[in-house]
Amino acid sequence: MIKTIMFDLDGTLVHYDYDAFVRTYLEAVGRKVAHLLDPRRFVQKLLAATEAMIASVDHTRTNMEVFWEHFPDGLGIAVEVLTPSLDEFYLQDFPQIQDVLGVTPLPAARHTVEKLLSNDYEVVIATNPVFPAIAIEERMRWGGIDGLPYHLVTTYETSCYCKPNVEYYAEILQKLGRSPEECIMIGNNTCEDLVAGDLGIKTYLVEDCLLDIGPFRREPDYRGTFADLVQFLESFGSVG
Ligand SMILES: [Mg+2]
Repeated sequence: MIKTIMFDLDGTLVHYDYDAFVRTYLEAVGRKVAHLLDPRRFVQKLLAATEAMIASVDHTRTNMEVFWEHFPDGLGIAVEVLTPSLDEFYLQDFPQIQDVLGVTPLPAARHTVEKLLSNDYEVVIATNPVFPAIAIEERMRWGGIDGLPYHLVTTYETSCYCKPNVEYYAEILQKLGRSPEECIMIGNNTCEDLVAGDLGIKTYLVEDCLLDIGPFRREPDYRGTFADLVQFLESFGSVG
């Protein structure tokens, strides 16, 4: 019996072109620190530290710890000089990406999550925890699904694994005290999201913003458009 619904965020509950988002984000953050160092070097280091974070399967270190272990190395300036600009970026500049990309909430998204919560399902935002909480909460705001009593939102401060490592999903199960059979993972990425199925978690592929370009792929148990998903979840009654 399903008790926990795990939603991917980007391209699943909030729809936009993810490549355009990454491009816009990297340009904007590079611009923000351009008075301190070469933006190209900054972005190169940012991506390399992110790769290290994704590769790490050390359960004793959070993604944030792995990131900051790699990022300063060879940067050419002290981290303390850089961090105020990064903090300001997430507060002031990152929110503006919503308008650049023209992201608007999916009308049914908030209603669907609220209904699941009121029917006593546990709802998890299982977004790849490569970003700080502030940047994840901001993207939830773009999708109009912020401020709800989620059981867990995976962030780089609190997660020790990233997608597509299957350990990412095992860590969620462990935090919630759930077995795979009690959970369903809903996402738009045939690699990062559907790999949850390797543990026995049921999977639903949302095809509106389908990403099928990962290093491997899995077949979902269910698939459909976001509208199909809403209908699929409508059939979920109360837990109990
Ligand atoms: Mg996604």
